[in-house]
Amino acid sequence: MIYIILLFVGHWVISLFFHTAFLHRYASHKMYTMGPKTEKAFYFLTWMSQGSSFLVPRAYALMHRMHHEYSDTEKDPHSPVFYKDVIRMMQQARKIYGGFVTGELTPESKFCYDLPVWEGLDKFGDRRAVRVMWGVLYTLLYLFIIQHFHLSYFWLLLLPIHYLMGPVQGAIVNWFGHKVGYQNYDNGDNSRNTEVWGIIMQGELFQNNHHKAPKSLNFASKWYEFDPAFVVIKVLDKMRIVKIVPQQA
Ligand SMILES: [Zn+2]
Ligand SMILES: [Zn+2]
Repeated sequence: MIYIILLFVGHWVISLFFHTAFLHRYASHKMYTMGPKTEKAFYFLTWMSQGSSFLVPRAYALMHRMHHEYSDTEKDPHSPVFYKDVIRMMQQARKIYGGFVTGELTPESKFCYDLPVWEGLDKFGDRRAVRVMWGVLYTLLYLFIIQHFHLSYFWLLLLPIHYLMGPVQGAIVNWFGHKVGYQNYDNGDNSRNTEVWGIIMQGELFQNNHHKAPKSLNFASKWYEFDPAFVVIKVLDKMRIVKIVPQQA
């Protein structure tokens, strides 16, 4: 059982780190900079860790910049204020994100600055066959562990979360982060702080703080709040792997 839990938690923690550190804090907000080779390495690791649910960074960043500009208004790509359930909200987000990936949707020019692009990996990672290959790999790993350690097939129920890990994490942040929790600031939207120590979502559920200061790398703002991804990026900065942009907000 421990191996299944390790596999699940390991995949969650690593893919969420690249989700928050690369797609969100770097691609969307440029809270820190890095050299072109390091960017490629982060890009590649984002693809590896998201696998079947890889989110194309450029499209993610465009959608996310829209989210900040139009938070909880009709033009927000994923506001829980307008949807009865999380599935409907994510279907709308999927439509907009997909439109940016294919180019069927033209983003407003104010969102189109400084976007990381790796055309080859975007196309490869977004191919259906490649996504299915990742899904098969997760399934085989589960079947191997279950058979080797004589575990219950019940554990296969966790597989859909692996298949859709990126969007599942997005759904949790977008739904709960604008619905459940406390507000430190009046941002004129519905953003909330849901998780005080960031243990499950690595600081992503400080939506209220983050919408107040979208350029601040540290999503925690009160003394009792803690943003773990911020600490990891701080260490990467100390190691000179990335360079944190001095806080502007
Ligand atoms: Zn938000
Ligand atoms: Zn943001």
